[in-house]
Amino acid sequence: PRPMERLTAILEETSAARKKVKVKDAVVHWFKMDLRITDNRGLWEASEKAREAGVPLICIYLVSPQDFEAHLTSAVRVDFTIRTLRILKEDLAALDIPLYVETVEKRKEIPDRIIEFMEEWGASHLFTNMEYEVDELRREAKLVKMCTDHGLAMEVFHDTCVVPPGALTTGSGKQYAVYTPWYRSWVAYVHANPELLATFDPPSKNPPDARDKVAALFDCDVPDVSENKTLSKEDAKRFHAFWPAGEHEAKGRLERFCEEKIGQYAKRRNFPAQAATSSISVHLAAGTLSARTTVRTARDRNKTKKLDAGNEGIQAWISEVAWRDFYKHVLVNWPYICMNKPFKPEYSNIEWSYNASHFKAWCEGRTGFPIVDAAMRQIRGMGYMHNRCRMIVASFLSKDLLIDWRMGERFFMEHLIDGDFASNNGGWGFSSSVGIDAQPYFRIFNPLLQSEKFDPEGDYIRKWVPELKDVRGKAIHDPYGRGAAEQAKKAGYPRAIVDHKDSRNRALSAYKAGTGRD
Ligand code: FAD
Repeated sequence: PRPMERLTAILEETSAARKKVKVKDAVVHWFKMDLRITDNRGLWEASEKAREAGVPLICIYLVSPQDFEAHLTSAVRVDFTIRTLRILKEDLAALDIPLYVETVEKRKEIPDRIIEFMEEWGASHLFTNMEYEVDELRREAKLVKMCTDHGLAMEVFHDTCVVPPGALTTGSGKQYAVYTPWYRSWVAYVHANPELLATFDPPSKNPPDARDKVAALFDCDVPDVSENKTLSKEDAKRFHAFWPAGEHEAKGRLERFCEEKIGQYAKRRNFPAQAATSSISVHLAAGTLSARTTVRTARDRNKTKKLDAGNEGIQAWISEVAWRDFYKHVLVNWPYICMNKPFKPEYSNIEWSYNASHFKAWCEGRTGFPIVDAAMRQIRGMGYMHNRCRMIVASFLSKDLLIDWRMGERFFMEHLIDGDFASNNGGWGFSSSVGIDAQPYFRIFNPLLQSEKFDPEGDYIRKWVPELKDVRGKAIHDPYGRGAAEQAKKAGYPRAIVDHKDSRNRALSAYKAGTGRD
């Protein structure tokens, strides 16, 4: 069985035993990537259990540097998590709920540590939200069993998607492999189950005597994490200005976007120089915002309750948020994508180039293709990249440079503040044509045309490539080919490292040979 099926089966097997567990001295909510108090299903369920029994709710977060390594979590994302934890700790303290944070060196020790804490605190019930990556599902399945063996009850909830993975199937009972029919089914499912967009209240305040019982747990510090995931002072200052942390910021960002920009989203979303998208991916990734809140807030701006009617901008935006659900559903159904394998097995034999100097030029934003370089400098400068540019640089790496898409996927995870395995893997699969519902392999973005179409004035390029800031007119898209060679050379901007026409032909041959297609 797939890891989620296995976890679900174990939850069913242990259901009777879990129901029999009596609430002892405390109930625990284990935070992972759901770092908010509002509209958090697992936290709300834990709070209700504690409230009904009149015992304290304790929250726990375990920092594992090994987990950060294993997930290739970027330093900027680790920093964002730590800043968020500090805010979360304060918000919970205002409700007299402690957030106990501890560093666990080895990630495989997490289940044992949790059981130890539960026993130390006399806690009988553990609540958490489900994460859909393979290791996490396996770990949770193990922990549910361990809890049952120790006479404890662990409950695991679907929370991160609007529609839980597995809920939508084709007429023949299979997971959809194409987004459009899946999206129609997603919309119909939400319309039929409007409670999916209901909100979960923040937890109730711990009663005063309950607070006293757990008073010692308020004292713990939120640790700084491992040395190689720490930002320099200069980087920290810049990233903190771009990305204030915590759920209050997330809510504000969402409200502002819905107030000011969502109506124009369909028309403007593809232009990286216009700040026309929501930039809430960082909050959805850290769980400082729930997908339910996101879709509900957008829907409530519309004149209709229907997700696929009314204002075009709102519809378009909701359908983008749905892509996030789609890729998580895909991950649950085809977990082998977690193992470095392309979604389409027939794309396993492409002979990739491992040209180190090309890869370095791409990473550093020195390919000589201004739109690609601007985007790569944006990811380094902000920990973020505009969606159109993510597609451009992913196509450029996997097709123009014919470099293994997995190297780009990894680089993104190591640099993005919103790095999310399912969406990142899905995006790379789409652009390199090896993924689910991907671009056909023969559709190869022309970086020059993309640049002219989506950054017509060159403002995005000028912002991120200072060597070209004084280049005027159309030359900005191709300075060496369009009469700004002297200027570019003087400023130290490199010439194009490949010829797009040649590399396009090379990519077509390699994809055809690798997949045995004509
Ligand atoms: P908006 O345009 O405002 O969209 C709202 C939300 O919808 C986003 O925050 C995001 O949660 C979701 N969304 C939008 N587009 C997509 C999409 N194509 N796939 C999945 N979800 C989407 N997104 C990540 O969150 N993490 C990643 O690691 C990631 N890696 C990507 C890699 C590649 C190669 C590509 C092509 C796309 C990737 N995306 C990733 C999707 C998308 O680029 C970002 O979600 C988006 O740019 C975030 O900006 P925003 O919040 O302003 O988006």
